[in-house]
Amino acid sequence: MRAIANRAKFLYALIGVFLLGLSILGYRFFTNAQNWSGQRYNKHLYESGTLVSGGRILDNAGIELARNEDGARRFNDDRTIRMATLHTIGDLEGFISTGVHTQYKSELTGYSFVDGLYSTVANGSGNDITLTINADLCATAYRALDGRKGTVGVYNYKTGEVLCSTSSPSFDTRNRPSAKEVEENDSYEGVYIDRFVSGEYVPGSIFKIVTAAAAIDNIPDIYSQTFTCEGEYNIGEGIVKCNGVHGKINFEQALSHSCNSAFAQIAEQLGKDKLQQEAEKLGFNDFSAAGGNYLNCAGSKIDLSKAKKLDLGWAGIGQYTTKVNPCRYLTLVGAIANGGASPKPYVVDSIKTASGITVFRAKTKMNEEILSSETASKLKKMLRFDVEDVYGDWSFPNLEMCGKTGTAEVGGDKRPHAWFVGFSQRDDLPLAIVVIIENGGSGSGNAIPVANRVMQEALELYKD
Ligand SMILES: [Zn+2]
Repeated sequence: MRAIANRAKFLYALIGVFLLGLSILGYRFFTNAQNWSGQRYNKHLYESGTLVSGGRILDNAGIELARNEDGARRFNDDRTIRMATLHTIGDLEGFISTGVHTQYKSELTGYSFVDGLYSTVANGSGNDITLTINADLCATAYRALDGRKGTVGVYNYKTGEVLCSTSSPSFDTRNRPSAKEVEENDSYEGVYIDRFVSGEYVPGSIFKIVTAAAAIDNIPDIYSQTFTCEGEYNIGEGIVKCNGVHGKINFEQALSHSCNSAFAQIAEQLGKDKLQQEAEKLGFNDFSAAGGNYLNCAGSKIDLSKAKKLDLGWAGIGQYTTKVNPCRYLTLVGAIANGGASPKPYVVDSIKTASGITVFRAKTKMNEEILSSETASKLKKMLRFDVEDVYGDWSFPNLEMCGKTGTAEVGGDKRPHAWFVGFSQRDDLPLAIVVIIENGGSGSGNAIPVANRVMQEALELYKD
């Protein structure tokens, strides 16, 4: 018996060593294969630092945004589509570092865990990547920006699919500006930055959503309070000016009329700690990477630690040192639309080998809940009231839109940034949108028409 037991032990030990060896091999293959695939065939895939090979990049309707033809990389034939989708798909030189061409280099060039680089080497094509964006919708958004700098982003607040993402200024890959042109010409300012993913802006009045959330969570009688606006509010250390003279108004009217006097008073009641806490709860100062195929948006920033009384008044209306990233803010309004939590946004939907095998398919992944369902529901009602009471449903026909504008002062003699953030509350149109037009003037006059134009086309797409 003892001999058998010893033999069994020996056998187990042998199996253990074998499995250990196998897992080391597997681990090394898994961690190094991408490097091997990138290095060994470098010459075939790149020429002087430019990607010349790779699979196709398709939009959500199957339109080819980039493909390989005769050993060269070709972008879509339509110039507006090329420019409108440039930042999402990225240039071939990698200047736009957040684009698919850079972020999904190894997937595009054909590395797959199953057959390595076989398909790339065998027939010159890599994997096809299908995106969630719709090229025509991006083109519409780009046209609506009409040469002004800024960004438009639309995403499904139930699934996380980004349907539209465009960033301006852009350039045409068939007529690439020289480094000198980019440097010297102000119209190319920040041309390599995807403003949706990486932009940081003064929020102005769109920040009142955060202040309102803090009020709902921390001031029990906020709905029964009234505020008096005589065109400004003296907070003790100075004056916060309003955009109008609103007289006697309640909390909901304060938001719909975007009354600075009322929101400076609300910020004063909250105090800087509670406002800071609420903003952080809503995702400000979160700089963690999204991971996987989810968009790595820049973090929104807030720091009220050194704010004095007057600073706090301005902070409550989004005119302090606070900065907002458009993609992050889109997920914040998405959480309001979706009952307190929103999905992580993504643009890569699936990856297929040249032989048609799907090697990746995106999944919806939720962010943590940032609002209680009661607070989310109250904010949703207020954002709906903004449209009904002030912007008018005629500004957004058939959309049942909820939202908030912003006219963010940026100092000097420059025009303010025009903002709109919002969402449709229609069950069959679960889309949220962010629009920012740099130095575009008033939010209601300039950002709303852009938002409506893009949402109307999205509505048509969702009908099909
Ligand atoms: Zn006012």
